[in-house]
Amino acid sequence: MLSTQESTPLIDPSLEAIRSIAMGRLDGEDGTIPVEDPATQQIIATVPNHTTVNALEAVTLADSAGREWGKTTPRHRSDILHAAYAHLIDSKDRLAALISREMGKPLAEAHGEVQYASDYVRWFAEEILRGSGGYRESPSGGSTIITTQGPVGLSVLITPWNFPLAMATRKIAPALAAGCGVVIKPATLTPLTTYLVVQLLEEAGVPQGLVQVVTTRNSSAFSEAVLTDPRVRKLSFTGSTPVGSTLMELAAKNIIKSSMELGGNAPLLVFDDADLERAAEQAMLAKMRNNGQTCVAANRILVQNGIADAFVEALTEKTRALRLGNPLDEATTLGPVIDHRAVERLSQLVNDAIAKGATLRTGGSVPDAPGYFFEATVLDDIPINADITSTEIFGPVAAISRFSTEEEAIRLANDTPFGLAGYVFTENADRAFNVAESLETGMVGINQGMISNVAAPFGGVKQSGLGREGSSEGLEEYQETKYFNLARRSSS
Ligand code: NAD
Repeated sequence: MLSTQESTPLIDPSLEAIRSIAMGRLDGEDGTIPVEDPATQQIIATVPNHTTVNALEAVTLADSAGREWGKTTPRHRSDILHAAYAHLIDSKDRLAALISREMGKPLAEAHGEVQYASDYVRWFAEEILRGSGGYRESPSGGSTIITTQGPVGLSVLITPWNFPLAMATRKIAPALAAGCGVVIKPATLTPLTTYLVVQLLEEAGVPQGLVQVVTTRNSSAFSEAVLTDPRVRKLSFTGSTPVGSTLMELAAKNIIKSSMELGGNAPLLVFDDADLERAAEQAMLAKMRNNGQTCVAANRILVQNGIADAFVEALTEKTRALRLGNPLDEATTLGPVIDHRAVERLSQLVNDAIAKGATLRTGGSVPDAPGYFFEATVLDDIPINADITSTEIFGPVAAISRFSTEEEAIRLANDTPFGLAGYVFTENADRAFNVAESLETGMVGINQGMISNVAAPFGGVKQSGLGREGSSEGLEEYQETKYFNLARRSSS
C-alpha cells in the first residue's frame, strides 16, 4: 500500500538561496541543475551547473585556505570539529528532512544517517589529537629516525547519492582534521545536503573558502580539469567501480594519492545452525535498509538447505510488513528508489530471474502512483545464471539461493570480482571464524546485518576499492609521512 504526503518546502529552492548556502563565490556557472524529489517527482530546487573554470577557481580558493589551515594546531582544528559536531546534532531535524526529501530514505533512517555522519566529525576531532609520528634509533646506531604525519594537501572528494551526508562527512572530517583544504563534488541527484552541511560547518567555525562545493552535470570535464591540476594531492572517491577505475587512471598522471570506496556484491550466508529469527531480522537490515541502496547490501542471500524454507518464510513475512510510501511520512518504512532508471533496472532484474526459474515470493511490481517506487520483493531459488547474481541490485529485492555444504557456500560467496562486505549467520563459533576468514571481503558481519561504525576501518578488497575510511586508517588517508634522519655524534 502506497502512502502519500503533501510535501512542504524544507529549503528555499531559489538559486540565489542555494548560492548563498553554497559559496556564492563561484560565479559564472553554466545554467542550473534541477533537483528532484524521488517520492513525488517534483523539482524541489536548482543548483548551479559549475563549469571547469569554476572548478579550477574552487581549487585555487581551497588550496590557498588549506595552506593556512594546515599551519593551525591539532587542538585548534579539533575544537572547531567538536563545535561542528554539536551544530550538526542541533540541526538534525533539518538535515534529516532534507536527506529524506532529496534521496528518498525514510525519515527515521535519515535521522540515523545524521547521527552516523556527525559521529565521523566527532571521531576525527578526537583522532587528530592522538599524534601518530615516531621516534627510533637506527639499528646500526649513528642516527635517530623521526617520522611525522603532515597534511597530504588539497583534497578532491567525490561522493555518491545514497548517503548524501555520511559520505560527505566521512571524507570532509578527516581531511579537515589532517589540515587539508577540500573541493567536494556531490552527486547531481542529491547536492542539497552537501551545500547545507558545508554551511553548517562554516557556522561552526570552519574558515570560509576551506571547503568548496562544485556541482556539475559534466562530471568527466570536472575530473579531467581538477585531477590534472598539480595543486591537487588527494582524491577520495565513493561510487561505482567503473567510474572509480576511470578516476584512478586520471589520478595516475600526477601520482595523486587515491582512496576508492567502490561497488559491492555482498554475500549473506545463513547456516542450518543459525538463530533463525536473528538471521531473518538482520538480513532485512542488510538488504532493505536505505531502500536497498547500500554498497554493503546483502546482494546474494545464500541459505543452507535445512533452514532454507523457514528462513524464506520469515524473510517474506517481514518484507510484506514493510510500508511503502513517502519517506517524510513517519509510518513509511520503505521509500522510493533514486530515479526512473533504477525502477527500470529492478524490473529487468526481477523479470530475468523469474524467466530463468526463480520463484517470486512477494512483491515484484511497480505501484501505479507518482514517484520512483518499487515493491519490496523476495525471490527464491535464484538460478546461478540469473543476471541478479552478478549485478549490484541497489534496490529492495532480496535474491535467495540455497547451498548444501560450507565449502560450496564459500565458493559461491567468493565467486565475484567484488569484495566489500560479507555476512555469516551461525551459532557455531568455529564456523563463524572459519567462514569469516575465508570470505574475500574487506568487512564481515558475524550474526550482524549492520557493520558500519566510525571506529572501524570501512573499505573493500578486489574491485571494491583501495584504502579505508573511519578508524585511524581514515585519517592516514589524508596524511603524508615525512622522515627526518638526525645524525648522532658522541658528545665527548
Ligand atoms: P557513480 O559512480 O555513478 O557516481 C558517484 C559519484 O561520481 C557522483 O558524484 C557522480 O556524479 C560522480 N561521477 C560519475 N562519473 C564521474 C567522472 N567521470 N568524473 C568525476 N566524477 C564522476 O555512483 P552512484 O550511482 O552515485 O552511487 C552508487 C555506487 O556507489 C554503487 O556502486 C555503490 O556500491 C557505491 N558506493 C560505495 C560505497 C563504499 O563505501 N564502498 C558507499 C556508497 C556507495
